[in-house]
Amino acid sequence: SSKQYDYLIIGAGLFGSVFAHEASKRGKTCLIIDKRAHSGGNIHCENVEGINVHKYGAHIFHTNDKSIWDYVNSFVEFNRYTNSPVAVYKDELYNLPFNMNTFYQLWNVRTPEEAKAKIQSQIDEENISEPANLEEQALNLVGRDIYEKLIKGYTEKQWGRSATELPAFIIKRLPVRFTYDNNYFNDKYQGIPIGGYNKLTEGLVAGIEIKLNVDFFKDREYWEGIADNVVFTGNIDQYYGYQFGYLEYRSLNFEHQTLDTENYQGNAVVNYNEREVPYTRIIEHKHFEFGAQPKTVITKEFPQEWTLDKEPYYPINDTRNTEVFKKYKALADQEDKVIFGGRLAEYKYYDMHQIIGSALKTVKDVFND
Ligand code: UDP
Repeated sequence: SSKQYDYLIIGAGLFGSVFAHEASKRGKTCLIIDKRAHSGGNIHCENVEGINVHKYGAHIFHTNDKSIWDYVNSFVEFNRYTNSPVAVYKDELYNLPFNMNTFYQLWNVRTPEEAKAKIQSQIDEENISEPANLEEQALNLVGRDIYEKLIKGYTEKQWGRSATELPAFIIKRLPVRFTYDNNYFNDKYQGIPIGGYNKLTEGLVAGIEIKLNVDFFKDREYWEGIADNVVFTGNIDQYYGYQFGYLEYRSLNFEHQTLDTENYQGNAVVNYNEREVPYTRIIEHKHFEFGAQPKTVITKEFPQEWTLDKEPYYPINDTRNTEVFKKYKALADQEDKVIFGGRLAEYKYYDMHQIIGSALKTVKDVFND
C-alpha cells in the first residue's frame, strides 16, 4: 500500500463500523473519521440517570436473518424486548399493529370473521378502484375508521402535508393481522442490546483508529490523500458538490425530558395519532431494557421540514428525488477507489439489520471471500 491507510472510512455509523471491523479483521489498516463527537451514528445512546437514551430516535433491532442476528449477538447480548406500541387518538387507546385487539377496541368485534366483514364493508363503502393518493390507498386497504383514527393524522404530521397530496406508494400495504398479537414486527429475531447500543458500535470499532469531531469536507484533499481507498457513508449529493441539486429529507426534532417519576407511560412507544398533537410519539427509554431506575427519560418526536442545517432522517423517495439520486449514483458507479454505503450515501431508508446485511455484502464483494 502506498498511502498511510488502506481504508479511510467516513462516518462511524453502522455501515462504516461494520465495514471497518471486517476490513481490519482481514489485515487492512483503517482510519474512521466522523464529524460528531461520538461514534455509532444515529444508534448512539446517551446514559442519563442510568437509562440508555436513544438520542436520534428509537431503534429496535429486528431481523429474519439468523446470520445477522448471530453477528450482532457476537458483540453484545440482546434482551427479549418486543415492540408493541399503543396509539392514542383523542381519549381512546388502541393496540398496534392493526390486529384483533385493535378491532375489538374499535368495533367491539371478537372473531376474525366479524373483523374481516367489518373492514370489507368499509372498503366497499368507499368504492375506490384506482387509488390516486395516500388517503385513497389507505381507505382502499383498511376502510374509513382505521384510516381516520390511526393513519391520517400520524401520516400527515410525519410528512408535513395532507394525505390527499401524498403519493399512494408510501403505503403499498398496511398489515392487518387477524390474531390477538401486538408484536409490531413479523421478524423471527428481535431485541435491544443489554447495556445499550453503544456496546454494539464500540465493539465493532474496538482496536480501530477513530477520529471524532472531524468534518471530511473541511479538509477534503488532506483526507483523500491519507488512504488508498475510501468508504463514504455521508450524503452523496454533498460528496459531489450538490451539482445536480439537493436530495430532500424529512427531519425530526427530539425533545428529551428527565422526569422525577418511575414509570410515565407504561410502554416504550406511545404514538399520538391525532393531527392536533404536534408530536407523533413519546418514547420512554427505560422500557426498552425493563429498567427499574427511580427516574425516567421521555422523548417527544416532532417531525419537521428538513433544511441543510438539520439532521436528514427520512429520504423523500418521490419522482424528483429519485431522478436526482440516479444522477449521483451514476457518478458513484464510476469510482473504483470509493465505496458508497448506508442510508445517506444510498439515499434509502434502511433498518439496522439491512445496513448490516448491506455492509457485509459489500465486504464480501470487495475482499472476494
Ligand atoms: N403509520 C401510521 N400510524 C401509526 C404508525 C405508522 O399511519 O400509528 C404509518 C405512517 O404512514 C408512517 C409509516 O406508517 O409514515 C411508518 O411509520 P413508523 O413510525 O412505523 O416508521 P419509523 O419512523 O418507526 O421507521
